[in-house]
Amino acid sequence: MVLDDLGKSLRGALDDLRGKSRIDEEDVDAVVKEIQRSLLQADVDVDLVMSLSDSIKSRALDEEPPQGTSARDWVLRIVYEELVELVGESTDLPLENQTIMLAGLYGSGKTTTAAKMAWWFSTKGLRPAIIQTDTDRPGAYDQSKEMADRAEVDFYGDPDEDDPVKIAREGLEATESADVRIVDTAGRDGLNEELIAQIERIEQEVNPDRNLLVLDAAMGQSAKSQARDFQEAIGIEGVVITKLDGTAKGGGALAAVDETDSTIAFLGTGETVQDIERFEPDGFISRLLG
Ligand code: GDP
Repeated sequence: MVLDDLGKSLRGALDDLRGKSRIDEEDVDAVVKEIQRSLLQADVDVDLVMSLSDSIKSRALDEEPPQGTSARDWVLRIVYEELVELVGESTDLPLENQTIMLAGLYGSGKTTTAAKMAWWFSTKGLRPAIIQTDTDRPGAYDQSKEMADRAEVDFYGDPDEDDPVKIAREGLEATESADVRIVDTAGRDGLNEELIAQIERIEQEVNPDRNLLVLDAAMGQSAKSQARDFQEAIGIEGVVITKLDGTAKGGGALAAVDETDSTIAFLGTGETVQDIERFEPDGFISRLLG
């Protein structure tokens, strides 16, 4: 089980339960305290940590462990199940024709993620295309085209056009033969009315099958309000956490997942087009607690 590679102090607290047949409140508190410490350090929202703690405590104390299960294994199982509940399952991504739109703030890693996802779909035997609608950031077109070349996927953009909606419309026509269209959008330093209005117009034009919110792993408490604004504007079906190769553990993104009632689709782990992983709960939980 994933919790076998937990932090030392958490393992210690669990090991104190070894040989016990009954679990008392003090034992559970010690375990919960260690989990809280790790999760808060990983930037997980305080309310989410508290609600997880309450669930673990009440289940460990109220539910009867199945016959033959030791106190340690029982608490371990509850902790694991509740952590899976917290981080969620991976966003469902059918390997079929679809259009995916990426949203997020400036610098979150959208353009890089568009190329990575295109590469990922190409490894699954689908033909992807990137549509670059970011007309605000100088260099977005060149960066995107270069990454599309590196990923060996189709690309559409128009460096001479300044209407992103028009680029989106023409991009959809130009990439008709692609199976998966990934639409990159402009970001800003902060979410303002102009960005919201623009992304709403692009989304109306594109009518994507799913919108993914791209978040930097270092994004702390502001992930929640950002997610709420994007959710209200276009609806968010999944989250991508980037820059997990750095020191940040990405726990802040869980508030965005909670706020949008969505799940995590991908993790970005570097700057090249291959540095992408499908999210899976076990690895992410280990990362949060480790
Ligand atoms: P955008 O403004 O949202 O399109 O962001 P970009 O895709 O341009 O990314 C901003 C910066 O973050 C670039 O320098 C990328 O190379 C870098 N970046 C993006 N994703 C990752 C990642 O997973 N790991 C690391 N180390 N850098 C990343």
